[in-house]
Amino acid sequence: MTPPIPIAKSVAGLQSALEPLRRAGKRIGFVPTMGALHEGHLSLLQEAKRQSDFAVLSVFVNPEQFGPSEDYARYPRDLKADAALAAGAGADHLFAPSPETVYPNGFCTRVEVTGLSDRLCGARRPGHFRGVTTVVWKLLQIVDPDLVFFGAKDAQQVVLIRKMIHDLNGPWEVRSVATVREEDGLAKSSRNRYLAPPDRERAATIHRALRSAFQTIVHGERSAGTAEKIADAILKGMAVDVEHLSTVSLSDLEPLVELQGDVLLAVAARFGETRLIDNVCFRVAGDEVEEILP
Ligand code: AMP
Repeated sequence: MTPPIPIAKSVAGLQSALEPLRRAGKRIGFVPTMGALHEGHLSLLQEAKRQSDFAVLSVFVNPEQFGPSEDYARYPRDLKADAALAAGAGADHLFAPSPETVYPNGFCTRVEVTGLSDRLCGARRPGHFRGVTTVVWKLLQIVDPDLVFFGAKDAQQVVLIRKMIHDLNGPWEVRSVATVREEDGLAKSSRNRYLAPPDRERAATIHRALRSAFQTIVHGERSAGTAEKIADAILKGMAVDVEHLSTVSLSDLEPLVELQGDVLLAVAARFGETRLIDNVCFRVAGDEVEEILP
């Protein structure tokens, strides 16, 4: 069994653990999560271990990024299980602050990447990305890592965080990590556990639809509309309730007509109360198409 890892609940506790490492010139890698860890989170952690000397993982279910009718109260929480999984994947320190530690009484500052926050997932989840960027900015200030790791599954999040760090002159380097999937292609997510068995089976259609559209692009299709129609037909064929299916430029999330440059093809779909997202990112340069990370 892997020995347990230290868990800091306070900002001072974490910072006093990291101070000597920083002084010794160690590179700190940071993986922010909301817990309920699965192999997707663990692959971020493994990447953090590979690219840095000391890996910090945070577990914080951020109330600011949930809408009033969303699943904040029932979001799965099990710090003991998360600590064991994180230790097994090589985490060196856990940061698990309480909501009061992150948002003490009187907290009234927000960080918002305007415009980009309202596109794609932001259109249906007003305030969601303001909650994400606010907490990520705060966690980055607290941990002050060299590198911070995010999953490609949440491509819009990666784009927003890169923009926030650029616009506000943050010193941290962002690394994105490929999406980890179930055997049938469904992107691993803490929310997959909510799916009823028939929905769980249908949910794999999202990945299938994205791959089919991507394959036609690899074979020469350059119309965003046509690529979207191919994915949409597959999703409709399985009666999937699509919230958005969009082809946008990866840099500014603006809708594309012609596929050129760095492209994000993103899907959000609903299965009952559960909302799932997935995407494919690729670079189109003339006849060449190459899958990339956001
Ligand atoms: P969450 O706990 O859902 O906020 O996710 C924390 C981090 O894990 C985010 O950077 C996510 O993009 C990433 N992540 C979630 N699911 C996956 C996955 N299936 N593969 C890779 N990274 C993931």
